[in-house]
Amino acid sequence: SVKNDTRGGYAFYSSNMNSQFSQHLDLEMGLRRALTNHEFVIHYQPQYDTQGLHVCGIEALLRWQHPERGLLYPGDFIHLAEEVGLIGQVTEWILDTSIRQMKAWVDEGIAPPRIAINLSTLDLKRSNLVDEIIDSLDRHGLPGQNLELEITENLIVQDINMATQRLNALARHGISIAIDDFGTGYSSLSYLHQLPIHTLKIDRSFVQDIDPESTGRSVVDAIIAMGHSLDLTIVAEGVETQEQHAWLAQRECHGMQGYLFNRPMPAEELQSILKTSRPATHSMIAAPAGEE
Ligand code: C2E
Ligand code: MG
Ligand code: MG
Ligand code: MG
Repeated sequence: SVKNDTRGGYAFYSSNMNSQFSQHLDLEMGLRRALTNHEFVIHYQPQYDTQGLHVCGIEALLRWQHPERGLLYPGDFIHLAEEVGLIGQVTEWILDTSIRQMKAWVDEGIAPPRIAINLSTLDLKRSNLVDEIIDSLDRHGLPGQNLELEITENLIVQDINMATQRLNALARHGISIAIDDFGTGYSSLSYLHQLPIHTLKIDRSFVQDIDPESTGRSVVDAIIAMGHSLDLTIVAEGVETQEQHAWLAQRECHGMQGYLFNRPMPAEELQSILKTSRPATHSMIAAPAGEE
């Protein structure tokens, strides 16, 4: 095949750099084919309530079932997809696929309140993003209230006016916005009350630092306290130990996500978890003052 010929050609140069270059090229060509060949898959990771009993949300995480290299993770290819201008199509695919899946779970009566999808910094720059999302919700008959979009602080800082405009448009359709990896980006914090933010996801690096004597504790403490006072929902990502869970629960962190509970998994596996766990009677929304 053409592909093998190309490989042979590059193999002529034995330097590391050239082999990396050819791998990169392979990956880029592969990425272009992955969409048409249906090689992308979604793994879903549940988010639990404070007590760790009910599934309160789901995060959709992209994987690429590469025909030769096996299962690839976003860290292996998302950056490239952004670089070569394919991220828009990838986002459109994961949005549409997870919205369709969520609708099926809603219809079965086993869906938690929300499914979250990660957006790339480049996505919010596209003027058609909002329409694309609304069209997909309409097409599948899923209310915006069931959708959450995860963005990073960097995106907001890059263009606050554009972010404000897009996020307000999404919020008008009931869609929630979560700040992913909170605490790791450049942020002024002032955007927190300017923008329709619903959820802060405490970055895994802080959560993994939760042990006695560590500074991670004070950071997480501060984020949770701020979240409570601003009426934001706080979700801790990367919860791996009982100790971390207990400590977070004591501080009334609203949601937890991590290997302690479940790894991200294919839809069928999550489905059986959703069927056996009683559906959440409440979402993770912080109870308005006086309503507890
Ligand atoms: P993220 O949104 O912060 O997602 C959390 C990452 O932590 C996921 O890695 C998840 O598998 C992993 N994780 C969850 N629980 C634990 C835990 O207890 N311990 C550890 N060590 N890790 C845990 P993953 O799936 O490799 O995704 C990495 C990043 O790639 C995501 O970070 C997100 O920024 C990005 N990403 C994933 N899916 C998409 C997508 O569809 N579009 C875009 N643009 N980015 C995506
Ligand atoms: Mg995320
Ligand atoms: Mg995150
Ligand atoms: Mg993270």
